[in-house]
Amino acid sequence: MRICRVSVDDDLFFGIIEGEAVVLLAGHPFGELAPEGRVLPLTDVRLVAPVMPTKIIAVARNYADHAKELGNEVPTSPMIFLKPSTSIVGPGDPIRLPWQSERVEHEAELAVIIGRVASDVPEERVPEVVFGYTCANDVSARDLQQTDGQWGRAKGFDTFCPLGPWIETQIDLEDAAVTGMVNGELRQDGVLGDMVRGVPELVSWISSVMTLIPGDVILTGTPAGVGPLVAGDTVSVSIDGIGTLTNPVVDRV
Ligand code: ZN
Repeated sequence: MRICRVSVDDDLFFGIIEGEAVVLLAGHPFGELAPEGRVLPLTDVRLVAPVMPTKIIAVARNYADHAKELGNEVPTSPMIFLKPSTSIVGPGDPIRLPWQSERVEHEAELAVIIGRVASDVPEERVPEVVFGYTCANDVSARDLQQTDGQWGRAKGFDTFCPLGPWIETQIDLEDAAVTGMVNGELRQDGVLGDMVRGVPELVSWISSVMTLIPGDVILTGTPAGVGPLVAGDTVSVSIDGIGTLTNPVVDRV
């Protein structure tokens, strides 16, 4: 099932995508789905980021080839950091380059969307608390990440977490390709099965640290090939079974 969030008449609705149409939902999709009554052509609505979470938890160095390209070891236990919910933008929204950084990079990632309150969840029960998956770009000010030590600023600027275009509730977590393209040129080309730690282990481990709330987002790390973004670029993240998230890059004014 494909769940989106759309702007209709200045209001936001969740919806189910069925073919070329969107079945609008009353309320949120975490639990029983309640159609609101309207069914609209997909071309008549504007897709926005598919969730607005209480928090975004991101996993660092979860693909060995990416850890290596930045000169890092794969950590012996998961390494996480937080991005603010205000960093989220939707498909088509601009990524704004902050004046504080001279090197902003793309990171194509699978995002896991939590569907139920989750605390101390054992790995075998993780499927019960995962709602679905979407594409994410963990935009990073690489120079500030290196100089600051803490990553709150480097990873936390407004527009530094494009999400979308929608949530797919089932995907192939082994064989699906995750790719990052800049101006149509392939930069990152990974496979979800290459993650050092898979979704069950990550969600279980994170839920032993902090309670996860429906809509919370977990970014699962990026494969090799990260690189700079400059104003005028168009950056896309694609994952098999989900789709493509595309965003223009502009200077922050
Ligand atoms: Zn990342």
